[in-house]
Amino acid sequence: MSRRVVLIGHPVSHSFSAAMQQAAFDALGIDATYELWDRTPLQLADTIAEIRGEDFLGANVTIPHKERVALLVDRLTEDAHATGAVNTITREGKRLVGHNTDVPGFRIALDKLVGKQKMPRQAVVLGAGGGARAVVHGLITEGFQRVIVFNRHLHRAEKLVRHFSKSAAHMELRAMPWHESVIEAELSKTRLLVNATSIGLHGDETPVPGELLPPDLLVLDLIYNPARTHLLRDAASAGDTAANGELMLLHQGAAAFALWTGQPAPLEVMSAALEQARAAGIQSAEGEPTGSAPSS
Ligand code: NDP
Repeated sequence: MSRRVVLIGHPVSHSFSAAMQQAAFDALGIDATYELWDRTPLQLADTIAEIRGEDFLGANVTIPHKERVALLVDRLTEDAHATGAVNTITREGKRLVGHNTDVPGFRIALDKLVGKQKMPRQAVVLGAGGGARAVVHGLITEGFQRVIVFNRHLHRAEKLVRHFSKSAAHMELRAMPWHESVIEAELSKTRLLVNATSIGLHGDETPVPGELLPPDLLVLDLIYNPARTHLLRDAASAGDTAANGELMLLHQGAAAFALWTGQPAPLEVMSAALEQARAAGIQSAEGEPTGSAPSS
């Protein structure tokens, strides 16, 4: 029987996951297809019920469903429980297990960004959704001492901070209102800025005006498509060290692949497929025919 894995999100058309995962299945001769399912929050419960069928190996979950899905599966792994967010689902018989492979993906991206420098201890995080939860958990467990979370809707950032109150009891984890002057003041006291909002995903927008970025900041934008967001271009102009979310995408995907198949992920194949999807996306922007690659 051919098996299925689905990406559940709304929207999903920006995603490179299908290109990456399908290439990995094909390279290892696994008879499986990776499908994009655009499902609204109202359709989510029925969608999760649907993937309990035997033909499913599991699923990925993306914007805006990661937190809600944590309430719909039967069991959570440690990282999924700690974050209250699920980006990967596996099946144990009819039971669904929620995992969070964004956490190891973020750790690898952070290590690469910091490189040989000393790991900072202060961070500013923009956003309070599922991705931000993986980031904040990663920062807490990495030993950060001060993490400030800004979000458009302050109550969601406050909820995130409450969620981590036990694991962050030894450090300062605070939610602050989204005011440019407050963000500027916090950026002047920090070494690391992580954008975990979806600002920049759909248009050439930035969460933070370029003039607010101090030099020598480490900037990680979780967005990987487009590759150079407005924020990343501004960071480069300010003399900052910056990276997009592609390495996090690759490694969260590799961890998910291993969970579904029980086999180590073919990292090089997946990385090459990402590059191809990116190239096809660039062609698309230039008006060339692209087939289905950029949206998959
Ligand atoms: P969610 O839908 O859970 O959260 C979206 C976040 O973006 C919220 O904080 C939301 O604020 C904020 N936001 C959205 N639109 C606006 C806006 N117009 N103005 C201000 N704030 C806005 O999504 P996720 O957390 O799952 O994903 C967030 C981003 O991170 C996405 O771009 C996603 O692609 C990326 N990501 C990348 C990963 C990778 O592997 N590279 C892994 C995980 C995420 P509010 O709460 O106020 O609505």
